[in-house]
Amino acid sequence: MRLGIVGAGQAACTLIAELIRGDFKGDILVFNGEPHAPYQRPPLSKTWLKTSDDPTSLRLLPEPLETHPSIQWIQTSVQSLSPDRGLLTTDLGTYLVDHLVLATGTTAIKPSIPGLASESIHVIRTLDHALRLKQSLTGVTNITIIGAGFLAFEIASSLADPSRTIRILAKGIRALPQVAVKTADRLVDQTPASIRVGVEIERFDETMQTLVTNHGSIPSDLVIAAIGAQPNDALATACGLGSSDGIPVDEFMQTTHPKVSAIGEVSLHHQPHLNRIQRIESISEANDSASICAKRLLGHPEPFQATPWFWSDQGDAKLQIAGLCDRTDDETCLIESATELVMIRHQGQRVTAIEALNSAKEFMAARRLLDQGDLALDDLLQVGSVFARLQSSRS
Ligand SMILES: Cc1cc2nc3c(=O)[nH]c(=O)nc-3n(C[C@H](O)[C@H](O)[C@H](O)COP(=O)(O)OP(=O)(O)OC[C@H]3O[C@@H](n4cnc5c(N)ncnc54)[C@H](O)[C@@H]3O)c2cc1C
Repeated sequence: MRLGIVGAGQAACTLIAELIRGDFKGDILVFNGEPHAPYQRPPLSKTWLKTSDDPTSLRLLPEPLETHPSIQWIQTSVQSLSPDRGLLTTDLGTYLVDHLVLATGTTAIKPSIPGLASESIHVIRTLDHALRLKQSLTGVTNITIIGAGFLAFEIASSLADPSRTIRILAKGIRALPQVAVKTADRLVDQTPASIRVGVEIERFDETMQTLVTNHGSIPSDLVIAAIGAQPNDALATACGLGSSDGIPVDEFMQTTHPKVSAIGEVSLHHQPHLNRIQRIESISEANDSASICAKRLLGHPEPFQATPWFWSDQGDAKLQIAGLCDRTDDETCLIESATELVMIRHQGQRVTAIEALNSAKEFMAARRLLDQGDLALDDLLQVGSVFARLQSSRS
């Protein structure tokens, strides 16, 4: 079989690794739209942004896999597809494959701000974005981050410096609306940034170097947008395989076309844990969907069943989340101390997610319970009392 993979990010690399490990009989053509060897994205907003200039430390694939003889790396973007013929068109020529996997990820969204050119608004989605941001920091004293999610908080921690004032502007009524109020409060307390909520940006005043908002003028030598991303699904949409939010696939990561699969954060599928169709942007989704696709291509199909999980480094604090909840889900505290916090998110008795701050052991135990299927709040609270005893014996 000749397999074509479009994209060379997290999901593509997990797929490659699992195929090679599973002794895949065939050739793999990987179309890499970026001018770098495959790299990890999470460090771009964390330690790497703060401490390193060395892209090689971000390498995603170990050398034996990167140089495996069955892989052909093609350093260019795919411009169009013809699924019936298995044809991919690039500016280097056309390629024929038996099956193709779309692993194209997402693109950062930039807000439109009158008076500020789009190129002047920084985002962090790619290594080039992060390198450009690092190069732009010289002499900057006022950094404004638009958006108040995990990424904004990570960037603020990584860019913290006594010579800089960092401000986070939230459009909504609170920062970090994805997590429980108590969890968000802890992270807000320790961020080096000052936070303003309910902010509407009117324009950028170039002379004063300020963002003019409903909260007055905000000094901004450098503006970073962290307001989310949109799926790179144009290739699929052009051949009738897209949707309004990503590329729909079944529980085996197969699109409606037998020759095309989609994996990673561009894929849109039923999430058994949530019992609804949802696109998820996280490393766990990239890895789990790639694994499912690999199993199918290796002839051992298994349906997608994973529970999503996520982590974020917020300065010295480590946030881990298992499951996924609605913003309105109830919040119950399981463990709380000066440094640690475990919150349960639930809809009545049904536990939807567990959020842990600096509580890796408790998180792993609770995550295992969540993985086993429906988890009742009362059952988790009973386990929680054991955690609490363990924790007090530690402190
Ligand atoms: C700064 C940052 C921090 C993050 N931190 C965390 C974290 O702490 N925890 C967590 O769980 N997740 C985190 N994530 C999210 C995580 O990195 C992504 O969910 C994951 O990388 C998605 O993998 P993917 O393979 O679907 O997409 P990607 O890794 O984005 O790879 C897609 C690739 O496809 C390429 N491509 C697109 N179109 C084409 C084309 N036409 N031809 C060829 N190539 C193409 C793109 O250029 C890209 O290289 C973070 C993301 C970023 C940007």
